[in-house]
Amino acid sequence: MSPIAPFPAEGGCDCRAVRYRLLSAPLVVHCCHCRWCQRESGAAFALNAMIEADRVLSLGVEPEVIATPSDSGAGQHIARCPACKLALWSHYAGAGPVVSFVRVGTLDNPDLLPPDVHIFTASKQPWVQLPADRPAFTEYYEREQVWPAASLERRQAILPLIEAYQASRR
Ligand SMILES: [Zn+2]
Ligand SMILES: [Zn+2]
Repeated sequence: MSPIAPFPAEGGCDCRAVRYRLLSAPLVVHCCHCRWCQRESGAAFALNAMIEADRVLSLGVEPEVIATPSDSGAGQHIARCPACKLALWSHYAGAGPVVSFVRVGTLDNPDLLPPDVHIFTASKQPWVQLPADRPAFTEYYEREQVWPAASLERRQAILPLIEAYQASRR
């Protein structure tokens, strides 16, 4: 355990209309090196904290949710500030609105959440050096191999919601 409890932690957009609070630590933090994340971030990778959507408390203006294409073909929904349009988090087809992929750089203190795992390293930009102390996968991974037990338990708790979402899409 860290000597200082870092959560809840707050973040928001550039114009400060959207402010949010993460009520707990995330399930896992992805550093994604796929070409889609590179394009969407305009940078070398995306840093996404995956967390139950009901643990992201809105403190200001509600973000607007924009349907955006995704690599899977199923699309994603990106929550953006209605004023400055900055992207704060995404919902992907796998868990839909049940899980938010919060952009770590929008936290007031993004240093809180270094990546737990590097994914899609097959398209990693060549100058990026991966740390030796974190797992890395050329594409994706098996959840049971990477997530801590507590996060797997938390996922079990929201699984009925995820399954209901999946059923609603069929
Ligand atoms: Zn804004
Ligand atoms: Zn990606």
